[in-house]
Amino acid sequence: MITSVVTGAAGFLGSHLTDRLLAENHHVIGIDNLITGNVANIEHLAGQERFKFIKQDVTTHLFLPGPVDFVWHLASPASPVDYLEYPIQTLKVGSLGTHNALGLAREKKARFFLASTSECYGDPLVHPQREDYWGNVNPVGPRGCYDEAKRFAEAMTMAYHRTHGVDTRIVRIFNTYGPRMRLRDGRVVPNFIAQSLRHEPVTLHGDGSQTRSFCYMDDLIEGFWRLMHANYHLPVNIGNPNELTILQFAEKIIALTGSSSRLEHHPRPVDDPKVRRPDITLARSLLNWEPRVSLEEGLERTIAFFKNRV
Ligand code: NAD
Ligand code: UDP
Repeated sequence: MITSVVTGAAGFLGSHLTDRLLAENHHVIGIDNLITGNVANIEHLAGQERFKFIKQDVTTHLFLPGPVDFVWHLASPASPVDYLEYPIQTLKVGSLGTHNALGLAREKKARFFLASTSECYGDPLVHPQREDYWGNVNPVGPRGCYDEAKRFAEAMTMAYHRTHGVDTRIVRIFNTYGPRMRLRDGRVVPNFIAQSLRHEPVTLHGDGSQTRSFCYMDDLIEGFWRLMHANYHLPVNIGNPNELTILQFAEKIIALTGSSSRLEHHPRPVDDPKVRRPDITLARSLLNWEPRVSLEEGLERTIAFFKNRV
């Protein structure tokens, strides 16, 4: 019997990871306080005897009876709109929550996996971003609550690895999308799809020349699985290097949904990164991983999910 603990299990990525782990025959204990998650993401697991859900804030002490083999720490608000609404909770889950999750892994002699972020690179001065770039983060700007919490979480993870010998992994996730994102989480994918499906104006921040590189969630979860089973402790980028401007992205979604929406210009958020694209050389060589799902295919699946909800 293999047991995984997933923090943030009711979230977008946590629920897909949980599905994957159950498919791999793991027993899964999901922990989530539902601050940005949704029980609807895991309600299909009701009655699944290898899944147990605990509603708890991971910044409070974690006590679990019995053996645990893997701790996957995904709990954290992830959308800029969410973490701007909950800056203190975001700082607490990245720091105290990561400390607790590491403590649990240490106690159980479990392998630990941290969901970190490309946001550690801030508004990057090196492009594309390699793992050995230290980033350009404004600690006191509005995004600092998320970026610095994740940078602290990485530092704490390495300290537990070096000091206590915990077997740790760190993934730096680049913009990932797919079914189960919250319609109103404020990220660009649900915003543009919902606006297009409703034929409402598409809210483009600035002139849309800023870039992002979008990864479909199935590809990301495969990368998680491979990284957990590789023997490597420093951060690894997982993302899709296919880079677009946000304007191109808006036009693509309007076309794929057959929408009559027009573009509506809004101010760029403070410290919004100008560019973002992962260098995945390390993931390719270490994990033999690369994304397989094309943007069109991934967006079709995501649009189909949102169609039933708008
Ligand atoms: P999400 O908001 O859908 O999921 C996060 C989950 O964590 C939610 O269910 C939320 O309720 C839970 N949570 C937050 N604080 C908690 C706490 N104190 N105690 C217990 N549960 C708590 O977001 P997501 O996109 O699924 O992101 C999951 C992880 O991946 C996050 O750590 C995020 O930083 C990271 N990440 C995601 C992306 C992306 O593009 N989706 C990019 C970079 C990093
Ligand atoms: N964005 C936008 N319109 C929206 C939401 C987001 O133009 O309605 C832009 C945002 O300013 C950023 C990019 O889309 O440049 C990606 O934003 P998101 O919030 O998805 O995530 P980020 O990559 O900034 O963490």
